[in-house]
Amino acid sequence: MKQKILCMLREADTYVSGQELCGQLGVSRTAVWKVIGQLKEEGYEIEAVKNRGYRITSIPDVMTAAEIESRLKTKIMGRCCICYQETDSTNNRARDAGEKDGVHGMLFAAERQSAGKGRRGRAWDSPGGSSIYMSILLRPDIRPAKAPMLTLVMGLSAAEGIKETTGVDAKIKWPNDIVADGKKICGILTEMVTEIEYINYVVIGVGINVNQESFPEGLEGKATSLRIAGGRTFGRAEIIAAVLKAFEKNYELFLEAGDLSQLRARYDRLLVNLGRDVRVLEPGNEYEARAKGISDEGELIVTLSDGKERHVFSGEVSVRGIYGYV
Ligand code: ATP
Repeated sequence: MKQKILCMLREADTYVSGQELCGQLGVSRTAVWKVIGQLKEEGYEIEAVKNRGYRITSIPDVMTAAEIESRLKTKIMGRCCICYQETDSTNNRARDAGEKDGVHGMLFAAERQSAGKGRRGRAWDSPGGSSIYMSILLRPDIRPAKAPMLTLVMGLSAAEGIKETTGVDAKIKWPNDIVADGKKICGILTEMVTEIEYINYVVIGVGINVNQESFPEGLEGKATSLRIAGGRTFGRAEIIAAVLKAFEKNYELFLEAGDLSQLRARYDRLLVNLGRDVRVLEPGNEYEARAKGISDEGELIVTLSDGKERHVFSGEVSVRGIYGYV
């Protein structure tokens, strides 16, 4: 009910009468009044004028299930949403739900993470109040070998959602990062639990730097935020909704084809590495090559100096620019 009231108030240009809210939601005036009180406590500024009704005048940048759900334009993704003030890692919460009866498309978000994770045991810096930390639980009916492609489906969706809501020129750094101005604004971490033949569940975690003004030592040269890149602050729930909307559409196209063939052209257009010389860092093997784009299976296609083509599998690999991070 809370998210519906929020939605109705936000989308109306003028006052919404208590009667209209009650009628649409099929609840009593007291119930509406209670929710309005809760929203005010959470920081929403809502005017109540006799004989006219309620009007929302200011929306805080809160990470609550009601705020996120009230902005969603999806059928499944994020429709069941749980938000935490603090948790160790939203991927861990999604994994817990995956082990139990968590449903496909369930979303876990947090205001801050005490132990945000990157790939291969790395840490994701996760301060409170300024960023998005979210994880989606999926139960895809695909072979386990195809699951790594989901990281690229989310990468494309995150870049598209970010561009659409903020106008920031977000690009994809294959395989799992989004960059702006050559620095990382978003990281994606996919974890899965599988049997030999089938997937129990997949968790895709997305961390987006939204409103940070600065970064701790060691990250300064490598990380940036949408605020730094875009020159203003942004509402986090709106970005989450746009990323999930893009993901729902892209996920369907991925399932339909069984690979990335229907997403590849759009992915390559946003690929920051495209046509550039890159350094491929495989465990125990480093080499330089020119990036040509991705394959239908999501590998990075590179051309070596002798003209031979190689397909780089994302598993253990990092890619760098020749002179820097990108
Ligand atoms: P690389 O970007 O080096 O190829 P990766 O893609 O495997 O590595 P991730 O696992 O996505 O990296 O993210 C972890 C790394 O990202 C950390 O080692 C750190 O360098 C950097 N990092 C950590 N927190 C943030 C943050 N909030 N914003 C940007 N970068 C971060």
